[in-house]
Amino acid sequence: MGPRLHDELGQDDWDSENWSNYLKTGSPYSPDELTEEEFWPSGPDLRPDGYTADWDKISSSVRIKKGYRCEKCKVIIKDRPKLLHVHHVNRDKTDNATQNLMVLCAICHSEQDGHGHLYEQIMREDLAYLLALRRLTK
Ligand SMILES: [Zn+2]
Ligand SMILES: [Zn+2]
Repeated sequence: MGPRLHDELGQDDWDSENWSNYLKTGSPYSPDELTEEEFWPSGPDLRPDGYTADWDKISSSVRIKKGYRCEKCKVIIKDRPKLLHVHHVNRDKTDNATQNLMVLCAICHSEQDGHGHLYEQIMREDLAYLLALRRLTK
């Protein structure tokens, strides 16, 4: 069996040769070294951060479909896209089935299991913005 590409791997975990292969081909391994199955250890379409290659497209279409509204606190956020996230309910970032995707504001997202670290990443001004929106929405 060839080397496995773990979901959480980022650039720091790869040596420079792996990284330059990734930039060229989307896989950390040189195609000459490995069989096709080994070349795509986690499936053909994964980014190094564990999301699928089409994630940006999927997440933006989910936000549009749900009207840019947080499914928990119901705020609508159109002008600050980084404050409206798309959450994987089962925490599998490769499972983009409709029922596994939930549109959440940055605060509600940070309240999901194992997501506490997200709260510290919300800038103070953004936090104030979200809290004000929530008051208007209630
Ligand atoms: Zn919310
Ligand atoms: Zn999430």
